[in-house]
Amino acid sequence: MEISLVRKHGVVVQNLLERRNPSIVLDRQHHRRSAFPLRRTLRHPNWMCQGTRPGIWVIIATCVMLFAAVNSHAATFADLVLNHGRIITVDPKDRVVEALAVRDGKIIELGSNGVIQKLVGPDTRVIDLAGRAITPGLIDAHAHVVSTGLSDLFEIKLSDTRNIEEILDRVAQRAAMARSGEWVVGSGWDEGKLAEHRYPTAAELDRASPHNPVWLNNTTGHFGVANNRALKLAGIDASTRAPAAGVIEHGADGQPTGILKEAAMDAIFGVIPPYSVEQRRRAIDYLLPLAHAEGMTGFKDPDIDQEDWEAYRGLALDRRLDANVCVLFHTPPTLEEAKVTLSRIRKAQADLPSLGSASLSVCGAKIFMDGSGVARTAWMYQDWNRTLTEIDSGNHGLPALDPTIYRQQVQLFVDSGVSVGTHAIGDRAIDWVADTYAAALRSNPKRGLRLSIIHANFPTDHAISVMAELQRRFDSGIPETQAEFMWWLGDAYPSALGVARSQRMIPLHTYLDTKMIWAGGSDTPVAPFPARYGLWASVARETLNGTNGKTPFGVAQSVDIHAALRSYTIWAARQLFMDKQTGSLERGKSADIAIWDRDPYKISTNQLKEMVCDMTLFHGKVVYERPLRP
Ligand SMILES: [Zn+2]
Repeated sequence: MEISLVRKHGVVVQNLLERRNPSIVLDRQHHRRSAFPLRRTLRHPNWMCQGTRPGIWVIIATCVMLFAAVNSHAATFADLVLNHGRIITVDPKDRVVEALAVRDGKIIELGSNGVIQKLVGPDTRVIDLAGRAITPGLIDAHAHVVSTGLSDLFEIKLSDTRNIEEILDRVAQRAAMARSGEWVVGSGWDEGKLAEHRYPTAAELDRASPHNPVWLNNTTGHFGVANNRALKLAGIDASTRAPAAGVIEHGADGQPTGILKEAAMDAIFGVIPPYSVEQRRRAIDYLLPLAHAEGMTGFKDPDIDQEDWEAYRGLALDRRLDANVCVLFHTPPTLEEAKVTLSRIRKAQADLPSLGSASLSVCGAKIFMDGSGVARTAWMYQDWNRTLTEIDSGNHGLPALDPTIYRQQVQLFVDSGVSVGTHAIGDRAIDWVADTYAAALRSNPKRGLRLSIIHANFPTDHAISVMAELQRRFDSGIPETQAEFMWWLGDAYPSALGVARSQRMIPLHTYLDTKMIWAGGSDTPVAPFPARYGLWASVARETLNGTNGKTPFGVAQSVDIHAALRSYTIWAARQLFMDKQTGSLERGKSADIAIWDRDPYKISTNQLKEMVCDMTLFHGKVVYERPLRP
């Protein structure tokens, strides 16, 4: 692709400028190896002050006046101008303009090339977009950033395995390098993508790793498989009873198969050594540049613990958190534990001003109402399916906590003015959550808490009408949903749902018809984090491998790219409580911007998935630039 070059603009009063805006110095260094090379003529203004003729005082006076003039102009000119482009603002009118101007990290003006040209001063960096499109930096309203980074850095990657032998090979390789007794942990396997279409077993893992305990997380994070050494360390045998909100799977011989779901996994997590704060910090540090390379500048990390918070806090203190981040603190299933979560949230909120960072914030509490659709543990009215046509009799999932205690937890947070995001996938769970929010807000009518229903995969008509009402009256009841599930988990989901229920999955079009908003997200590491996949999936609703057909979820609930983009920009920003600062390109907002190689409003649906980011700016600073091809 042709990359247009930056134009040079006149004389720069270098020292003055660098004192005024140190970031420009960094920028200039950055651009020595840049795809948008900066060509400036750097001349010191004192060249004209070096006269040796008589009348030196006149010349000095002239110099002082010129210097003052340049100084006052610098205050009105832009630091950066992007022009000759298609600037998709995502403002309330969804305007597309030609150019925008940035000063001190904020957008100061948008409009035609002619209007913005007036803000180009001697020192302004100008990027000629040559017709390319820019959007607001994309935002993921549901990204487990710490977990994704940790599993990428420290665990066996299994998301691309296509059969059980491949999984066993990777486990055997890691076990061969591990010290005796050291845990072998992997993540990302998905039986929907395995040729065998079944779970691996403890006995198979024993063959691959006879001396080391093994735990392999399924891509959903709601279940996994252990080998027998790991089961033994966790104290699980044929006689172990599963906890109320968990499943220990048994084979025909009565022995555990190695598959543990939901709360049954806690026994394993209790014996795997936890990651250090430093490892978590590295995990965030590792993922941020990858997100920037996808045009992403914000996310909500939706289920963190205290150590994760320490990692975020440290990065913010060190000015290394180049993204808008908000977090939800994990809430375990009792009221007493919810009170502990509340005090952590309070403490973290009180600590924020000392960090001196406007980009890290605490959004509230995360509660799990149920489990996973793929694992068939989410709480449904009707039984799950075993295959497309066969019912999994007696299994309609289960709530992850006592529903009455859930109501008390929500009331506690609402009464404390703290927002809640509740994980709810099954239709029955979503009804319960929506009705709980309605009851809590009836008893304490607070507007703007933005209580959310995370995933909201199969909402009933009742839930949709309650959510719509909550949005109108209280600015709450907002789905934080993952269109990408239909793609990445789309080969496993239809056989858990059957044909009819699949059509109801993630009903974005109904949300639009009901004048609702929603926030998009990936749920990484459950699905890949690049938001372009979510944009595409919101429109296409296609599966990865077509195991049950290309569009088993139908296309009646598709939306167009305009709505999809809002869900990954301004609507997601609202769910981070950052819509005043970011999420659209408007005067006064942060210059959080992605430059793309193609125009999402003009390309075919298939191309949305292939969009390539050329440059990303966060607060007006270049945080990613696509390298030039050699
Ligand atoms: Zn999640």
